[in-house]
Amino acid sequence: MEPDGTLILAIPLHFCYHVPMTTQQTTQHSWNIVGHEHAIDRLRRTLAAQQVRHAYLFTGPEHIGKSLLAYRFAQTLLCTGDPDPHIAPQNPCNVCLSCRKVMHGNHPDLHIIARAPDKQFILIEQIRALQSNSARKTLEGRRNIFIIQGAHEMNLQAANCLLKTLEEPESDVVLLLTVPDSGLLLPTILSRVQQVSMHLLTNTQIKSALEQQWEVEPDEATLIAALAAGRMGWAVQAIEDEDLLIERKAQLETLTKLPTVSKVQRFEIAQRLSADTDKARSVLELWLLWWRDMVLAAHNCIDLTVNVDMRDILARQAMKVGMSEAERMVHAILGTMEALDQNVNTRAALEVLMLDVPTINT
Ligand SMILES: [Zn+2]
Repeated sequence: MEPDGTLILAIPLHFCYHVPMTTQQTTQHSWNIVGHEHAIDRLRRTLAAQQVRHAYLFTGPEHIGKSLLAYRFAQTLLCTGDPDPHIAPQNPCNVCLSCRKVMHGNHPDLHIIARAPDKQFILIEQIRALQSNSARKTLEGRRNIFIIQGAHEMNLQAANCLLKTLEEPESDVVLLLTVPDSGLLLPTILSRVQQVSMHLLTNTQIKSALEQQWEVEPDEATLIAALAAGRMGWAVQAIEDEDLLIERKAQLETLTKLPTVSKVQRFEIAQRLSADTDKARSVLELWLLWWRDMVLAAHNCIDLTVNVDMRDILARQAMKVGMSEAERMVHAILGTMEALDQNVNTRAALEVLMLDVPTINT
């Protein structure tokens, strides 16, 4: 807390789940995306002016819809719905053969590159495959499009290899990269891409989309919209995968008990979590939100917390933990996330974090 009473908590931009609560109109159009009007308008202007660049970078927090927007842009670039077959329309028509192929994931000129689940990085072989594909003629469309999901997960060799394509792209190639934060990319890559920033949606946007498009009951929509913390992708995942909310509840139950259990039990939890580093990352994201809520609760701002269904326990624990310990925990979790990104031993990093969790009496 600053002397003037302002609360300052330094959280990297891609974890800043501060959701504005004001009502905002959500435009519906053939892009079939909730919100993100600003980003879509920008791409539409590019299409209208026929000034499509060779590389775009979609940035914004995890689960916000970066890949979805990249897909829709690719679909529009390949859409043959315009009367002039040489020109991409401003919006995808969603009915032409090309649009349908993109929507079904089988357009031969749209290539997706992402880290394989069993690998730590996007590898140079994947970027070499991109290069050889980009050198050949398009099979059906006007353009050869490559979406690189989570481009920050390229290792250095892969990133340097991609740089060559960015420096001398084939005339019909368009690269669409997604990353949570542009700072995670090499500056040399960053200088060769057009950045499209995406922002968190409002609770109201998510709630009304869930009710109108997914026919979710109002009470459930309210809860999911709050938990989504501005991330439409998370909200959709939560309604499509029932286990997500059950898993969240289970993980939070473990988390709320942590301050009261012994060191041995904490280490057991660390060991269990460390079995799957990807899962550990998503659990840490949940923990970060929880402890961010704890900071808010300790500052008497319980109304701003995301975990709306657990406000009682948040308020109780915040009173015992206190502001400075809660803030210290947020930084400890961020440090652990950073360590995992740098491939330190997952179990060791989680064990250190376990010792950071403040102890409180029940
Ligand atoms: Zn179309």
